[in-house]
Amino acid sequence: MALVVQKYGGSSVADTESVKRVAHRIVGTQRAGDDVVVVVSAMGDTTDELVDMAGEITDSPPQREMDILLTAGERISMSLLAMAIHELGASAMSFTGQQAGLITDDVYGHAKILAVAPERIKAALRDGHIAIIAGFQGVHVATNDVTTLGRGGSDTTAVALAAGLEADVCEIYTDVDGVFTADPRIAPRARKIGRITYEEMLELAASGAKVVAERAAEYARRYHVPLHVRSSFSCEEGTWILGSYDEGDAPVEAPIISGVAHDNSQAKITVVGVPDVPGMAARIFEVVADAGVNLDMIVQNVSADASGLTDISFTLPADQGDTAMSAIYAVQGEIGYGRRLYNDQIGKLSLVGAGMKTSPGVSARFFGALRDAGINIEMISTSEIRISVVTRQDQLATGVEAIHTAFGLDAKQIEAVVYAGTGR
Ligand code: ASP
Ligand code: MG
Repeated sequence: MALVVQKYGGSSVADTESVKRVAHRIVGTQRAGDDVVVVVSAMGDTTDELVDMAGEITDSPPQREMDILLTAGERISMSLLAMAIHELGASAMSFTGQQAGLITDDVYGHAKILAVAPERIKAALRDGHIAIIAGFQGVHVATNDVTTLGRGGSDTTAVALAAGLEADVCEIYTDVDGVFTADPRIAPRARKIGRITYEEMLELAASGAKVVAERAAEYARRYHVPLHVRSSFSCEEGTWILGSYDEGDAPVEAPIISGVAHDNSQAKITVVGVPDVPGMAARIFEVVADAGVNLDMIVQNVSADASGLTDISFTLPADQGDTAMSAIYAVQGEIGYGRRLYNDQIGKLSLVGAGMKTSPGVSARFFGALRDAGINIEMISTSEIRISVVTRQDQLATGVEAIHTAFGLDAKQIEAVVYAGTGR
């Protein structure tokens, strides 16, 4: 008998028919002899619809109220799912994040899990229930206020509970058959990856792959939670995410490249004409950090002439663009830079693979493929196991396919099925 944590994403529970279908799957797992804990997302695009509704009322909703609003989506799906399980003759109890013991800090909208105290979940399992937990939410340790973990945070709830309960596996059910070598919505010839390491998954997620949330991958790595990403619409074996390629029943050799990720949710800010003296970059990034902005790539161009000025560019999530631009504007007098430029028509393309660090020629092939596809590069950044570039947003899809092909990742026949989901 194993303890299995299953997470179902919004597209797997988009309507009541889907809720019933998922209930069958869950009850099947329990009848096969396992203890089952389920984490569920809000139905379909409910969370986006709630965000839109708030936006029809105000441009700046109080963050505390926003979090209470958004947690409602998951409460709907968890209770309906518990009812559907009862209809099948099994017993289930649903719990909010607070009831499940997910203790967080008080950063509304992006709360971090500080502790997991799943006593009620353990008791429910002991009594023979299936425990269903609302994803993406917790409770602030001091105020008892409801918090959310950030968009896509149900994955993190599932991994945190799997760690807290010492589950044997955390299954992430989604609308594709696993993690693919690229997003099949953009690169139809993408191949399913059988096994991948936490490090690689983390880089893919940080580079825009949405199949597993970045924080969930990070949490899984820290607590060594075995993840199995698979489809709720098929019975196919999905992708296993583990510590190394030597783990599991049949160890395999590490591939050089795991996949290609893309991200079109970023924007680029350039601060033009910054005095080229110590402390200026520090000042810019201080004010941006104080505004709570998450930076990604940074480039400083040394002044070409003897002007004594330099340009600093960086990328950030486009939805933080206004915040960052105002923060920088506020120190224009102090720093004495020339002007600020903003561009949200950019895309980020990344190639990820742990074998990259020991294989020569990866960069040459990467940049050659972009050249052959006629794609101009605006920024470059690398890690040991990743190369990323910023391109024009309208060239991103072409770039993904070109790189996918250049590294021999294309499947001979189309194997990716996108079962559901609007990709919203
Ligand atoms: N419902 C939340 C969202 O759409 C959390 C999740 O789906 O993981 O972001
Ligand atoms: Mg969702």
